[in-house]
Amino acid sequence: MKRVYNFSAGPSMLPLPVLEKAQKELVNYSDSGMSVMELSHRSQLFTEIITEAEQLLRELMNIPDNYKVLFVQGGASQQFAMVPLNLMGKNKKADYVNTGSWSKKAIKEAKKFGEVRVIASSEEESFTFIPKIDSSLISPDADYVHITTNNTIEGTAYSDIPDTGNIPLVADMSSNILSEEIDVSQFGLIYAGAQKNIGPAGLTVVIIREDLIGRTSENCPTMLDYKTHSEGRSLYNTPPTYGIYMAKLVFEWLKELGGLKEIEKINRKKADILYRYLEESEMFTSPVRKDSRSIMNIPFVSPSAELDAAFVKEAKEAGLETLKGHRSVGGMRASIYNAMPVEGVQALVAFMREFEKNHQ
Ligand SMILES: *Cc1c(COP(=O)(O)O)cnc(C)c1O
Repeated sequence: MKRVYNFSAGPSMLPLPVLEKAQKELVNYSDSGMSVMELSHRSQLFTEIITEAEQLLRELMNIPDNYKVLFVQGGASQQFAMVPLNLMGKNKKADYVNTGSWSKKAIKEAKKFGEVRVIASSEEESFTFIPKIDSSLISPDADYVHITTNNTIEGTAYSDIPDTGNIPLVADMSSNILSEEIDVSQFGLIYAGAQKNIGPAGLTVVIIREDLIGRTSENCPTMLDYKTHSEGRSLYNTPPTYGIYMAKLVFEWLKELGGLKEIEKINRKKADILYRYLEESEMFTSPVRKDSRSIMNIPFVSPSAELDAAFVKEAKEAGLETLKGHRSVGGMRASIYNAMPVEGVQALVAFMREFEKNHQ
């Protein structure tokens, strides 16, 4: 069976054991004579799937009891609207940190709902670092502070989560959720599209502190109100059932591996292999400041656009897929999420060495 090392930023690789288990259970799930896709979302079997998925996620992330876990649709992009719609309750004001393309989209959307203050930005330096956020920057009357913990396109990540005191911290964790241990209690709300570290596209996970639910105005569309999904236990309408099932398999895989402590070690090891090579290489460089480097998305460049193109083409022929950088920044980008094995990064570095030697 041919499987490539897929460095796509999302949808991205899924763990092979997860795909194989899904394949095995595909046409006859748990002796039901049906696939999970054909099960009623109100059936006993699906109830077990969604309950276990939530339980596993709570266990993996050590989510405190006063937080709800919601399985919704619309992607992280829909959360760009749902967050202000639900949380700009009192003052209609929010603080945002601008660290990349996704932050910019979140800011643009939030402006439709109230007053947005950009309290820090790295845009003038092409988003190559994460600005320091100390509490003096935060507006005392902000309804929340929004950050993007990992910037998928630019390859930056927070090494320290800012302390926002009493003001709820909201985080877009789409591209680094489940990649390392975090303290959920530092956040008021966490959201993530599934297609990077959780499962297939179509599912969005929201982790929200209970006191932040029910703050919307009366004209809030039902489907965009966190309360609907919290009270309906993510079953107000038909949820993305197969995506939730796949997420459950990914959570089981992670738990078996040893949880977030263990995957963090593996992720740091993978990132280290690639960054160390980028340090010593005379052809490839990382555009990102050292203290802000992501362990999930690693952009790099060669001295010319021609070499970049040749690299991407030859890498593909060698079974190293989707290494082209985002169209907005060019160059290359290796996304090495949880499902990318250490061997994949080793193969990439071996290929880069070879390429460097052959193109001197
Ligand atoms: C991929 C991504 C998004 C967009 O997610 P969708 O699910 O496609 O809406 C938003 N934010 C970050 C940080 C991402 O990586």
